[in-house]
Amino acid sequence: MAEYPNVQLHIAGQWRGGEGGKTIDVLNPASEEVVGTVAHASQRDLDAALEAAERGFAAWRKVSAYERSKTMRKAADLLRSRADAIARLMTLEQGKPVAEAKMEVMAAGDIIEWFAEESRRTYGQVIPARGPGIYQLAIKEPVGPVAAFTPWNFPINQVVRKLSAALAAGCSIIVKAPEETPASPAELIKCFLEAGVPGDVIGLVYGVPSEISSYLIAHPTIRKVTFTGSTPVGKMLSAMAGQHMKRVTMELGGHAPAMIFDDADVELAAKTLAIAKFRNAGQVCVSPTRFLVQEKVYDQFVASFVSHAKAIQVGDGMAAGTTMGPMANERRVPVMETLIADAKGKGAEIVTGGNRIGNKGYFFEPTVVAGATTDMRAMNEEPFGPVALMRPFKDLEEVVGEANRLPFGLASYAFTSSGKTAQALAAGVEVGMMTINHLGLALPEVPFGGVRDSGYGTEGGSEAIDAYLNTKFVSQFGL
Ligand code: NAD
Repeated sequence: MAEYPNVQLHIAGQWRGGEGGKTIDVLNPASEEVVGTVAHASQRDLDAALEAAERGFAAWRKVSAYERSKTMRKAADLLRSRADAIARLMTLEQGKPVAEAKMEVMAAGDIIEWFAEESRRTYGQVIPARGPGIYQLAIKEPVGPVAAFTPWNFPINQVVRKLSAALAAGCSIIVKAPEETPASPAELIKCFLEAGVPGDVIGLVYGVPSEISSYLIAHPTIRKVTFTGSTPVGKMLSAMAGQHMKRVTMELGGHAPAMIFDDADVELAAKTLAIAKFRNAGQVCVSPTRFLVQEKVYDQFVASFVSHAKAIQVGDGMAAGTTMGPMANERRVPVMETLIADAKGKGAEIVTGGNRIGNKGYFFEPTVVAGATTDMRAMNEEPFGPVALMRPFKDLEEVVGEANRLPFGLASYAFTSSGKTAQALAAGVEVGMMTINHLGLALPEVPFGGVRDSGYGTEGGSEAIDAYLNTKFVSQFGL
């Protein structure tokens, strides 16, 4: 375990402890052993980070988009060159299989490059004037210092989307990264700093999330707030941002419907969706959760999905052959147990799984719940764990109704061989994202975000950088 660092704050170009010297332990969720510590920021540390963010913004906005883009590409190269070492840190702190962690690091390289390219395309407009000699310009400007709050499920990916978009736009940023998984985001930020982003431009803090968010969001230096996490916290932070008229991006919870029609390739659907469901032990906002299967193929789909669930090798993410690690933190285990007990009590059949594995590490069995009904808690609350809920449906109308029943609207999945059905789903399901007959979500170049209680704004695609830009209108005459 010697390889895991004691993680520090990054404030005004310096890596250092919190002013009060306070730290908290970081646990390996596979062993429950303490692997290191993370520094806690005090209010004075936050003030220093805010002052740096002001200076950083003043300097970074003046760097040309061309230069910013080059620096970001260098950061992507550095990150990729360190992928093996960073993946190991991520597995130690988060639990996911080290191959999955490495994929996350490599994908982050792609995200940085996408935003580096977008940096050079923050075009404005020249608007035709009503009279001669008038020039009307719409200019894009960076919104200002950003406060970003990111969770523990994808320690790097959740930071890199926000950090890259902000830097590409010319903003400075203070990242409040997850206390549970602090080392890998710190390594990501090192890559940007070593690539040449000035120290004042990126702050990194950890501490008590509610104290940091209430202080930063209210502070006049911060002009933009971006958060990924649960819906209740997102609503609270949005309200706070509204009070201070700060722009927001919110990437919140989901409860994704996966709709399997009887004309689909059922075996492909089962295999593909099992991969999606149990990735990162189900701790994924876009994880398929409600498996809605047309009656004729329900038994076949459930049986096939269960065989894939049973084939999963649960274990320490560092061990060869592990395909699913532990849950990332202790509090997720009783949540799974409670939701499963509730479903069982209301008549569901636990076809496979349903239990914690062992008593050391937060391991949980890949679980398939058949006969799920809408009164079960798991059918209404985001399980955020390795639990798949199966429910039959009759026809298109019924399945669209069920898909839209919950206030969430993040991801959705469908398997059908009918173009007509696919079109009806794309038009009728109220979500931010839909992927049909394959797993096509979350690439840097495509939109990523939700509607309704799942949040606001996109963190991918050509619109993502807009969240970090203001439009300024300038009208000139006689020049
Ligand atoms: P939680 O609601 O306590 O926290 C979720 C995230 O928000 C954490 O990263 C936490 O540090 C942060 N947070 C909490 N209160 C905050 C505050 N006042 N200010 C700033 N940040 C704050 O839940 P949890 O136990 O960590 O995770 C479980 C739930 O969170 C899941 O059920 C899921 O809905 C949601 N979640 C979603 C994502 C996602 O990718 N959308 C990621 C992680 C967790």
